[in-house]
This record gives sequence, C-alpha cells and structure tokens, in this order.
Amino acid sequence: MTENWLKKDRRYTWHPFTQHETERDPVVITRARGACLYDESGGEMLDMISSWWTCVHGHAHPEINRALAEQASRLQHVMFAGFTHPPAVNLAEALSARLPGDLNRIFFSDNGSTSVEVALKLAYQYWKNKGEKQRTRFIAFEGAYHGDTLGAMSLGQGCGFFKLYEDLLLSIETAPFPDTWEDDEERTHKTAAALEAFKTLIDKYQHEVAAIIVEPLMQGAGGIRFCTPDFMREITAYAQGKGLLVVYDEVATGFGRTGALFACDKIGVTPDLICLSKGLTAGYMPMGVTVATDRLFAAFLDESFDKAFVHGHSFTANPLACAVALKSLELFKAENTLGKIAAIEAAHRAQLPALQDHPGVHRARVMGPVLAFNLAEGRGGYKSADGEILRDWYLSNGLNIRPLGNAVYLMPPYCITEEQLQRAYSGLFQGLNQLERLAA
Ligand SMILES: *Cc1c(COP(=O)(O)O)cnc(C)c1O
Repeated sequence: MTENWLKKDRRYTWHPFTQHETERDPVVITRARGACLYDESGGEMLDMISSWWTCVHGHAHPEINRALAEQASRLQHVMFAGFTHPPAVNLAEALSARLPGDLNRIFFSDNGSTSVEVALKLAYQYWKNKGEKQRTRFIAFEGAYHGDTLGAMSLGQGCGFFKLYEDLLLSIETAPFPDTWEDDEERTHKTAAALEAFKTLIDKYQHEVAAIIVEPLMQGAGGIRFCTPDFMREITAYAQGKGLLVVYDEVATGFGRTGALFACDKIGVTPDLICLSKGLTAGYMPMGVTVATDRLFAAFLDESFDKAFVHGHSFTANPLACAVALKSLELFKAENTLGKIAAIEAAHRAQLPALQDHPGVHRARVMGPVLAFNLAEGRGGYKSADGEILRDWYLSNGLNIRPLGNAVYLMPPYCITEEQLQRAYSGLFQGLNQLERLAA
C-alpha cells in the first residue's frame, strides 16, 4: 500500500521546502498518538519537533478529539463579519484572561503568516488613523523569521531565506540579535552591543517607524537562537518609551515553548500586539490570532468606516479551530502542562554536559522544552549536507528530528514520557556519532 501512496504522491502533490527532483520520498503517516507518529505497517516514530512545533499536548488527545467532534456536530462554520458564535467568544475571553495587561482584542486569521500580516497592517493603519502619515517603516531583527507571505517575508529578510524575492519585498531596517545562551562567555558583551545598536536605530528612525517586530527570547526557523529576558525588556521599554508599537511574534514561542505559557510572561512586559498560531490549536487546525491592546483597538473606532480595519479571511474564527484551541488552553491547567514542561527542561539540562563534551557539537543550549545545539564549525549553512544526512539518519531510526541548517534541536510534545525522552537522547547521540564516522 505504501508504494501506492508514494506513487500517487509523486504524481500529484507539491510539498513545502522540497526539491522534488532530488529529495527522498516522504514518510507515509497514517496514524498518530501522543508523542508518536505511525506508518501503515505500525512503524513508530517519535515526533521530536512536534510536527513543526504545532503539537502541544500530544497527537490525538482524547479530550480535544471529543471537543472537536462535539463542535462539528453543532456548528462547523459561519462567516465572522456580522455573525459570532460561542467558541470564538469563549476563546477570545480565555486568551485575553491569560495574556498580560490590556491585550484584550483578538483578531482571528488562518496561520502564523497571516497573523503577522494582520499585525503589520494594524500597526501601519494605527498611525494613519491617528494622523501620523509618515510612519511607514518597520524594524525587525537579524535571523528573524515571520512567515512566507509577502509582508511576513519582508519582516523576515534578516533570516536570509528570501533573497530570490527581494524585489517584491518592503524595505525594512534590521537590528542585530544577541544570539546568546546561558554558557556563552560573550553573553554580556553581545547583549550590550545589540542593545546599543538597537537604540541607535530607533533614535535614527523614531519619527518614521510604525512598529518593531521580534520573536521574543527565541528565534525559531532562523536557527533556534536565544536572547535574554533582560534584552527583551530593555528593547521593549526603549521602543515603547519612544511611542513606537512593539509586536511580539509568539507564533513559535507561544503555548509553552520557552517554558512559560507565553514568552511575554517570562519577560514581564506587555507588547502592543502579539501574534499566535502553531501551538494555538494544539496541532489540530490551522488558525492564527493577532491580539491588540485596548488602546490600539480604540484608534480604529470612529463614526466613519475609513478607520475600520478592512481585512478578513473566509475562515476567520472557524468554530472547529476555536473549540480545539479553547480545550487546549483548559488542558494547560487541567494537566499541569507547565509542570510537564519543567520536567522536560530538567531532562534536557541533564544532557548538556555530554553535549558540551561532544566534538561535533557546539553552543549546546536549553530553553524550556527546547534543546538545541549547532554542528561544530565548518559544517552547515542552510540545506547543509550534514543536516540532511542527520535528518535522514534520524528518520530511518524512528526519530522525527529535522535540523535547521546546522542547528539541531528537540522540541517534543509535552506528553512525552521519560522513557521516550531517553530514547530520543540516545538516538540523538548515535546519529551524531554516525556523522563523525562519515566525516572521518
Ligand atoms: C512558523 C512561524 C511563522 C509562520 O507561521 P505559518 O503558520 O507557517 O504561516 C511566523 N512566525 C514565526 C515566529 C514562526 O515560527
């Protein structure tokens, strides 16, 4: 049967980030449960990157399944202009209760990129609505990734993935990112230098900037790069002190990925806009939200329609997605998910000494449920041969681990057991040793 699926897949589908001429066949998955994916013959694979960081409580969680089925039997969808429904209202209320400060207005869209597009347009229009027409610039960070649509690619030019489309993109200003971790000897110096450069950039453009956008504490697709809460606090305060809007793109960091429910909890600040997706629906349904403060929302109120935010998607606030997201938020409390995350973090930390001693590894680092390191100098670059060799080795050995260039990382679903984690670590090292042997 598998051959049959692959034959048709080869004939009819077009996969993301894939060179179909050269890439190996995809893995046919027919079932998933907890931290595991299964192929047709029952072969098990540990999903160590949570299916692109979306899966939170585990695959096929019985309570989320039930919430989804129940919602489907009641109302699967209704347009969200001129209509509303209980799942959207309940989810908006629950998110607003868990987010800091007056981040209370939830704008729904379909994925992480659209949540960023919405933030970009909201920030831009906010200033127009207030009569400050010259504020058209955005500041983002080196190494940042904000999605693959045009606006999101513009903001993510710092990650270097989008050179091909340069002519189509908005021009933005790019600030350096500290890219520092706990054992980094240059942590203080890098942080101070990045902060200085940021302030200089803000001072230069303060009257033209609409917003700054940042992946707080952890850059994802750009290579799982960290910065300190202090750095985040200082840049946020500095930009807000100059009256600029600060957007936290928590599409990746939200829902526990830095150890707290949201990175902004760990930092202790309230941004003006926050983007959420990926873990929002626990790996079930595509949905994104952009959350605005009450103050930002107020700038869109007027007798005239001109100041309204004229943006929407067919599936805005899809009831199935909202019901799933709401159940997922409830599970964070009911299952003490932050406690599980703390246990994963402790297990990761116990691996740090062995990683630091490994000749093929440098910059071993942990944040919350994320363990990351880079392949030692001289290897790497995005689509690096080593990263791909490793990925294929891990796939053949029951582990879904997909390096980003030369950054290798684990980001498991929070339901992962101690035994499964140990199995993943042991496979992780075996793969590295295999690579060493190939290189020798
Ligand atoms: C993945 C990601 C996005 C884009 O989300 P999609 O759902 O893939 O469009 C945006 N920002 C960050 C930080 C991400 O990690």
